[in-house]
Amino acid sequence: MKKLLSFFILLSTLFLSAQNTYLHCGKLIDTKNGKVLTEMTIIVSGNKIIDVKNGYINPKSKKDHNIDLKSKTAMPGLIDMHVHLESQLNPRTYIERFVLNDADIAFNAQGFAKSTLMAGFTTVRDLGGSGVNVSLRNAINQGKIDGPRIFTAEKSLATTGGHADPTNGFNKNLMENPGPKEGVVNSVEDARKAVRQRYKNGADLIKITATGGVLSVAKSGQNPQFTVEEIKAITETAKDYGMHVAAHAHGDKGMQRAILGGVKTIEHGTLMSEETMELMKKYNAYYVPTITAGKSVAEKAKIKGYFPDVIVPKALAIGPKIQSTFGKAYKKGVGIVFGTDAGVFDHGKNGKEFGYMVAAGMPAIETIQSATITAAKLLEMSSKIGQIKAGFIADIVATDEDPTQNINTMENVSFVMKEGKVYKN
Ligand SMILES: [Zn+2]
Repeated sequence: MKKLLSFFILLSTLFLSAQNTYLHCGKLIDTKNGKVLTEMTIIVSGNKIIDVKNGYINPKSKKDHNIDLKSKTAMPGLIDMHVHLESQLNPRTYIERFVLNDADIAFNAQGFAKSTLMAGFTTVRDLGGSGVNVSLRNAINQGKIDGPRIFTAEKSLATTGGHADPTNGFNKNLMENPGPKEGVVNSVEDARKAVRQRYKNGADLIKITATGGVLSVAKSGQNPQFTVEEIKAITETAKDYGMHVAAHAHGDKGMQRAILGGVKTIEHGTLMSEETMELMKKYNAYYVPTITAGKSVAEKAKIKGYFPDVIVPKALAIGPKIQSTFGKAYKKGVGIVFGTDAGVFDHGKNGKEFGYMVAAGMPAIETIQSATITAAKLLEMSSKIGQIKAGFIADIVATDEDPTQNINTMENVSFVMKEGKVYKN
């Protein structure tokens, strides 16, 4: 009997023991302490990191295998806090609103999600689309398609005629009267209903457009578009459902209302005054700069016919300002979290943002922390992602060069592992 039992134990160890992966990393970024470690081994079992050791440790069992990253710099999977995976800006964008079906959007999104993952971004916050982004998140979670882990806002909340009113720029016969169900609110009651509708639709968080925006078919790119009372109703209701609120904002007045109203992040923050920077610190709100998107729309506005006429002056005025605002906010001590607005430029180019942040005065190591440990904290995922540590999810990426020596290497992530599975090597 005893022999039989030990036989079964032997059999179960042979068949059930997980195969471990030993990653030998020439350099490894410790995002907690902001240090670059050398000659480290990460041991991965299933979808988890089970150990991190000094030196190159060799696998113990024949079934285990080894990944050689000795010439590379490894770091936790990157997190982009501002993307739009349903679309990618192109000269037909304003016609696509009328001709694409959800299935078309979904097929496009599948490719955009894959490009994002291959660029080293293993987690993203999707800040608004038509709702296909919820299905996209689910399909990725179920392993049906490849892409980053998604936290989605589903559809952004706007006011009538505001940035993200889905019928802006339509002729009057097509405008109809979108309401809370479609994400358009004009009162405290509407605000609560719109948040609850997002919850019902499967959103993880709420996005509002606190001011006008560059790419909407409307005149102002910066006016305030919600009252403080409406924003408070949104953030308080969101809290009831365990959701945080992100606010798109270019103009200073709308930004202040959003912060006073209790939003967690300010997106773009283009015309942020010093007073507002102080307010951000006081209210513990974080700044998501999206410098890449600003620069990209300003470039495209110079191409004749790329945008409808009403958009061109806004893109030229607002786009290039973000980088210097970011530099000032960083020096003032505003909390910074990494986000690009990919979708406004090509998905997969998210890594360009790191170089722009460094050029504006943020040290390279801090830009990487903003895209790992800080982002994980805001997503309430601090104990799971953002660090390479035993017990954490095995989201690991690597670059050919050390980004603290050459930040542009972040544009060419050459190794991607998500949840223990290698997608790029
Ligand atoms: Zn955006």
